[in-house]
Parts: sequence; C-alpha cells; structure tokens
Amino acid sequence: MTESATGMLGHSRKLSDSRRMVVKIGSVLLVDEETGTIRQDWLDALAADVAACRKAGQEVILVSSGAIAVGRRHLGITRPNLKLEESQAAAATGQGRLAHAYQEAMARHGLTTAQILLTLDDTEQRRRHLNARETLETLLGLNVVPLINENDTVATEEIRFGDNDRLAARVAQMVGADTLVLLSDVDGFYTADPLSNPEAVLVPEVREITPEISAMAGEAKPGDGSGGMVTKLMAARITFAAGCRMIIAPGKLLGALAAIDDGSGDSCTWFLPSSEPKTAHKRWIAGALNPAGTITVDEGAAKALAKGGSLLPAGVVAVDGDFERGDTVLVRGADGGEIGRGLICYSGEDARRIMGHKSDETEAILGYRGREEMIHRDDLVIE
Ligand code: GLU
Repeated sequence: MTESATGMLGHSRKLSDSRRMVVKIGSVLLVDEETGTIRQDWLDALAADVAACRKAGQEVILVSSGAIAVGRRHLGITRPNLKLEESQAAAATGQGRLAHAYQEAMARHGLTTAQILLTLDDTEQRRRHLNARETLETLLGLNVVPLINENDTVATEEIRFGDNDRLAARVAQMVGADTLVLLSDVDGFYTADPLSNPEAVLVPEVREITPEISAMAGEAKPGDGSGGMVTKLMAARITFAAGCRMIIAPGKLLGALAAIDDGSGDSCTWFLPSSEPKTAHKRWIAGALNPAGTITVDEGAAKALAKGGSLLPAGVVAVDGDFERGDTVLVRGADGGEIGRGLICYSGEDARRIMGHKSDETEAILGYRGREEMIHRDDLVIE
C-alpha cells in the first residue's frame, strides 16, 4: 500500500524538491485561440523544462488538454459552446495531432512519450485504477514521459471528468506523486476574479480549503478549457487527501516550470498538504501488520472514501472480527477488494449494531452518543 511520496514536502515551496510530479497543461497555453494551431515555441520550451527535470532525476507525468481546441478548429467548428457529440468528434480529430506534437518536441531532447487516455472509471473503479497505475509505473520505470488526457471521444456527460484539473489530481493521487503543477493562464489563486475585481489579491499559500477559500473561487467559466478556479479547488481537495502538494503557476511564459523556482514567473499559489505528524500517523496505520477486523462498505461509501471522506455507519454493509475501539481494521469494497485501512471508532459488537444506519440514530441504538463516523478520515488511509 502506498500513501503518497510527499514525505517531508509538506512545508517546501520548491519544485526542485519534487521526485515525482504531474504537470497539467491547459488548452489556452498550448493552442492558439485564433487559429487552433499548437504554439510550437511554448511546447518546445516545455519540452526543455521537462528534459531539465528528468536530468535532475525527477519523474514527470504530463496531463495535457487541447484535443478539443485543436480538433474543432481543424473541423471548422468555430462556435465556442459545442454539443457533446461535437466535442467528441473534435477530440478524436485533435488528440492525435496533440500527441504527435508532444512526441516530436520531447524527442528533440531524447525523451520518449506515451499516450494514455483515461475515462472516469479508470480512476474511480479500484481494479481499473490499479491497472492504470501499473501501466504508469511501468512507463516511468522505462524512463518514459507519460502524456495523459481524458478519453473525450467516448466519455459522455455522466461519465466524464470534463476538466483536466481533477483528472490530473486523480492521476497524482494514483501514482503517489508528491507535486501537482497546474499551468494555466492565471498565475495563482486570487481572493476574487482578478479580471472583474481590481481589489483581488493573490493568495501565495493555502493549507486548508475553508469555506472562505471556496467562496473566493467563484463560478466555473465556459470555453475550451472547462476548468476555472472551481475545478482547481476540487483538484486541491483530492491532492490534499493524497498528501500531495499542488501549485497553480503562471503558464503563459516560456519555461514555466523553471520559472517556479527561479521566481521569474512572478508569484504562484502553493497548496500545501497537512503537516508531517499526520502523515506519519497515516503511515503507521498503513503499515499495520495485523488488522483486527474487516469493514465492508457499499459503492457509495467507497466513492466517498476515495475522495477523502470519512466512513459513516450508513455506508457499511458488513463487519467481521472481534475488535476494540481504536483498533486498526481493513476496509473492503463490495467486491471484496481492499480499499484501505483505518482506526475504528467503535468496537466490533457496536459497529455491527449501527452499520447501515444514519449517524443520528447511533445514540438510540447504542444508548450513548458515539462518533458520527465509523472511521474518521484523519484515521483512514486509502490505497
Ligand atoms: N480533455 C479536454 C481536451 O483535451 C480538455 C479538458 C480541460 O480543458 O480541462 O480538449
């Protein structure tokens, strides 16, 4: 079981400290607004950046948008708001061109790229998640720079990420990356939309996503890239749960990655995950050799856990083993596969009595007011 590779990086604001990073590239950086062609000078500078990281022994995974932006201009669709089937056709047209451009640019630095197109199920279903992770690990082991995008051609509204911010965050979590870099046309996270509010100021560091921070993000914006601050915050939630740092950095300049450490890209926003003791605590839970019991959860609960939530009694379908409050237990999905492990807030006997019930029924069933959660997210390590 891996938790994350972050280790000591919770306080560091240096990209050079990263050992494994995921870099997300927004359409707006890579694709010329007017012509829909790929900005070669920008891509060449990125390739030089990636080559420098690789030379320094860092592993890099790219998550690039741009398939739809490239494809729709190629097909002569000029309207900004596409129907789903038009987006799918545009992605099918643009993705090959996109991957080819990356391959050529990286090859000039002796780097090999490999394209992986993921759907939502590939990250949300455990088995497929593990399969995708295995592929990525193998590619990294072979010194390849994986190039990821959503498989927009087959993704329909209900089953798509729709934005590469969250996709990149899930990839970072999947591979235990220590850092996720979001390169976009904004240089960081602001207290309000800087385009419409002159009072807006950049927030250099975020350590917790409070309701105030969420309120600052405002609403999602339409266009080629479906991201905006809202999805960037969702990405931060995912990386926080994985103990991975996230940076929103200005991407327009050439050499945007190098600029993060040398400061030439002005400022950026670092989302730094929780402090070391918590990580150590979770590491300890993850390393437990003899879990005292097993909690089986339904699909809804499994999804909530994957997003970093606590385990509530309502999502539990079976409790096996004779354990005490505070013991380490395994958490299994409905298919029997291990999801994670954590410290349980109830004894085996009590857990069996409240499983499947809402948290506010606990007191009536047990005769005492216990914790709302069966396992609190702070005491839970998801694989
Ligand atoms: N996957 C989409 C594309 O390649 C972009 C999604 C996004 O912009 O976040 O065009």
